[in-house]
Amino acid sequence: MSLPKAMLQTWRANNANQDTLRTLQKHRLDALVRFAREKSLYYKRLYSDLDTICLEKLPMTNKLEMMSHLDEVFTDRRITIDRIDQFTSNLDNVGKMMDGKYLVFKTSGSTGFPATVLYDKMTIDVASAVAAFRTFARKEDYQAFMKHGKKTAGVFADYGFYLACGMSRYLQLRMPWKQTKITVDVNAPGEEIIRQLNAFQPSMLSGYPSNLALLADYPELLIKPDVIITGGELLTDEIRQKLTNRFGCYVQTHYSCTEGGEIACECSEGHLHINEDWVIVEPVDKDNNPVAPGVQSDKVLITNLSNYIQPFIRYELTDRIIIHDEPCACGKHSRWLEIEGRTDDIMTFASGVQIAPMSFYKILEEIKAIRRFQLVQTALDKLVLRLIADNPIEAFQVAHRELTSFLESKELTGVDIALSNELPQSDKISGKFKHVIALKH
Ligand SMILES: [Zn+2]
Repeated sequence: MSLPKAMLQTWRANNANQDTLRTLQKHRLDALVRFAREKSLYYKRLYSDLDTICLEKLPMTNKLEMMSHLDEVFTDRRITIDRIDQFTSNLDNVGKMMDGKYLVFKTSGSTGFPATVLYDKMTIDVASAVAAFRTFARKEDYQAFMKHGKKTAGVFADYGFYLACGMSRYLQLRMPWKQTKITVDVNAPGEEIIRQLNAFQPSMLSGYPSNLALLADYPELLIKPDVIITGGELLTDEIRQKLTNRFGCYVQTHYSCTEGGEIACECSEGHLHINEDWVIVEPVDKDNNPVAPGVQSDKVLITNLSNYIQPFIRYELTDRIIIHDEPCACGKHSRWLEIEGRTDDIMTFASGVQIAPMSFYKILEEIKAIRRFQLVQTALDKLVLRLIADNPIEAFQVAHRELTSFLESKELTGVDIALSNELPQSDKISGKFKHVIALKH
């Protein structure tokens, strides 16, 4: 598939009805499964007993399974993990095509261990097409963006083989004459990030919501973006409001991951519509039974219909979502979803009780003496609090009292909470800042 064809097909499906979307999905799934079965040793084995191609009957896959059989997963037998390791050992290769055919991405491993993901030309073209037609929730923001020269600044990890970095390098390498896009390294000192953003004056600002919320606290940041598009982690209502107030523009998000691609884009009603022409999203409970619309899932199975080099078919993500099939006032017929956030940050304690990160976030956010915090689970029943405050000891005493009382209300007694002598910090590899970090298993 060429880029113009991907563009045309994606544009045509923008307002397609459910019947058309289901037909498209079935057609594309059939083609992908046939190809995977023929070219990938992994899928050949996985589908050895398959008679007909019916989504619900296809075996599921997950990260551990796929990453431990990676050489067999690829549909191009010349690609091996050894060759990928060699390619990725040179950071100059970020954004370059391996064998002139494939982009290589690594996920940051925030879910415990990293994944390696290859995109072929079709995956890249579809991603570009979806970005071209579905990025902006509101027409007026798109028009302002075009009027102001499409100036885009992304505050991301500006190195390594991460999706945002790799894709933006790829585009820069292909169109070096285009000076409309910059990536600012999220790990650079705050003053440096602000200097670059002030000098560039972006029309669209993108980045991780938690990091943009921290940047918003700098009065020296003097930019007037037309729109802010966050990604990579959950955009909470609080952060959306904070950024709206600070920058006076529309703030929106989207839902994507390296394996699934662009899963859902926000509409003018603030709903995340699934890109159902290119991805199949199945909400399931913890035993992998399908979950009805309106009910919160424990996990999601995604099928990326545009990746033929490394097929992701019924691939498990640990996100908790609610699917909505009721009509949306924006006029799109695709279903939309709500996402609770990455479950990697849900803490599981020794008794099995789980606590959502937002609970901790809200408690600590409310404590005025704390300027910035990060709660880290270091053992099953042990938390340490990193914080910035004028009087850390006093602030910690308040936090300790509030957290203990909250945990006791959840029948969690005997959880040890200590004040850390470290400051809150971004993840060293991905550059993302998390307020709540669960124990890695
Ligand atoms: Zn809508």
